[in-house]
Amino acid sequence: MRCKIVAGNWKMNGSLALNSQLLAALKAAAKPKNCELVVCVPAPYFWQCQQALMGSGIGWGAQDISAHEAGAYTGEISAAMLSDFACEYVIVGHSERRACHGESNGLVAAKAVRAVTSGLTPIVCVGETLVEREAGQADAVVGRQIDAVVDAVDPSDLSKIIIAYEPVWAIGTGKVATPQMAQEVHAKLRSRIEKRNSAAAAIRIIYGGSMKPDHAKELMAMPDIDGGLIGGAALSVVDFLAIAEAVN
Ligand code: PEP
Repeated sequence: MRCKIVAGNWKMNGSLALNSQLLAALKAAAKPKNCELVVCVPAPYFWQCQQALMGSGIGWGAQDISAHEAGAYTGEISAAMLSDFACEYVIVGHSERRACHGESNGLVAAKAVRAVTSGLTPIVCVGETLVEREAGQADAVVGRQIDAVVDAVDPSDLSKIIIAYEPVWAIGTGKVATPQMAQEVHAKLRSRIEKRNSAAAAIRIIYGGSMKPDHAKELMAMPDIDGGLIGGAALSVVDFLAIAEAVN
């Protein structure tokens, strides 16, 4: 049985003052049943998150990680640094990093390996652009993204990763994949992995892309949708918790 997970991606938002309100409200709220809650915050706020959320049952993590262990990689943040602040999760291969920072499937896979071998849970993002979908290439694009990760991660570690299917055309646009559309991609991803690794049934595949409380319930009810990666709505405690409640 896969436990649902709802992770917030704060992106490059927040301040000490704003975060302290948001984290305090999250900590004080009744936790949704049957659902793990996680916030992925900008690196300068790991310490604040750790102080605010320790013992709350809410996990925290990063939005990126270096593929390297340590050394002359100016500006990068290592897995060990994340662990210093008790981060448990890290988003890798978000479409904004693929598009704005030129991250290739190979680099994303290397980051996923670095995370998982360092005891972190990578939330590996995959997803097609609108042009790719309209050209009938969605399956091929997402397939290549996932194959790179499956090829790189040790087979015994594969069940530890989380996959986030995030159609690029749905991120921050207000356009949401229909539950059927998302379910179809999730099921195809699972069966693609199943051909290579029997752990496929245990891997959580979550949906991301303009998810809001209004349509979370229908998405979460799909058999292969194991939760959500939430951008904009994660900045509102009410919306974020309402999305997590939708798993019930
Ligand atoms: C995201 O950035 O991962 C995301 C899903 O954003 P939004 O919910 O704002 O579309």
